[in-house]
Amino acid sequence: MPVTAIIAAGGHGQRFGGAQPKQLLAIDGRTLLQRSVDAFLSHASITDVVVALPAAVLADPPAYLRSARKPLRMVAGGARRQDSVANAFRAAPPESDVILIHDAARPFVSADLIERTIEAARSHGAAIAAVGVHDTVKRVAAWNNSRVVAETLPRESIVLAQTPQGFQREVLAAALAAGEGSTEATDEAALAERAGYVVHVVAGEPANIKITTPQDFDVARRSADRTRTGRVGTGYDLHRLVEGRALVLGGVVVPAGKGALGHSDADVVCHALTDAILGAVGLDDIGTHFPDTDSRWKDARSLDLLERAVALAVEGGFEIGNVDVTVVLEAPKLRAHIEAIRASLGSALGIGAERVSVKAKTNEGVDAVGRGEAIAAHAVALLRHR
Ligand code: MG
Repeated sequence: MPVTAIIAAGGHGQRFGGAQPKQLLAIDGRTLLQRSVDAFLSHASITDVVVALPAAVLADPPAYLRSARKPLRMVAGGARRQDSVANAFRAAPPESDVILIHDAARPFVSADLIERTIEAARSHGAAIAAVGVHDTVKRVAAWNNSRVVAETLPRESIVLAQTPQGFQREVLAAALAAGEGSTEATDEAALAERAGYVVHVVAGEPANIKITTPQDFDVARRSADRTRTGRVGTGYDLHRLVEGRALVLGGVVVPAGKGALGHSDADVVCHALTDAILGAVGLDDIGTHFPDTDSRWKDARSLDLLERAVALAVEGGFEIGNVDVTVVLEAPKLRAHIEAIRASLGSALGIGAERVSVKAKTNEGVDAVGRGEAIAAHAVALLRHR
């Protein structure tokens, strides 16, 4: 029994604003439209998909619509939501006995919810996904130029409608016919109700959110990001060791016979960590952001540069998860200084010292580091989306 899914993506998102329709904004590399279309294309019970698109998108559709793995038709959106759906319905194959309608702005619909809606529509004629409300629900009224509570509604009797909404073919045909001459409906179920059909409710999902405002988009993007492990970056640095220079590691001066040669304090720990953080954010490297040819950075403390890199990461929407640094140095032994270095780095990074690891190794007398002519540091930083 063939089932057609109609994806309503014809709107321009007046409440969202912005230069392009919200359904073309990407979360983790896939647009809201692609995520919504994919949910139905990949569903075993869905036979084909019809997408109602704004004219500009229809004129030059993205590749994922042109090369879909199931029959996919594209139609122009109409002036109102019901006009878009009516255009799509006309393009649905006549043999489809159940038609599902889904908002492109609900990119997180699950396969289970699609299945529940299909089954209820097939059994009852019309069905919608909806979730209950947990807040107390009030009806309000205008009073003396303000709004006041007119009554408290029993919240057990209230649900919030989602999509998908599913209909037997003839029910949707009658509903859309009823919608032709009438005022704009915000969903297809409202048209079916007007046409006199009983609309059944299936359990929707809280995660099946509708992205209406830029704030919704931000919340959705961050929650998608949080489900991933984060962003990782590595850093490496090496400086020559010479007599007559202080040895600065993580902003801490370590008593030593030789110090690192370089601009300012030549702090290999801070340099490697700064690169690790910039790398995790995808912001190039320390030389790009803080060139020593720029007088602002020429004598800057490396710990300050590290703080600046953290600020860039925070501006980019990240926070530091943890860092791990390995210092490769023949002498002196660093054990007595490790705690001070961790505390200093933690304060620059804005995290507790327990999330800062610093380890020291020797190079067993091998190569320039082993001969005590140089000091090196390796760093890894894990960043999370805030
Ligand atoms: Mg360096």
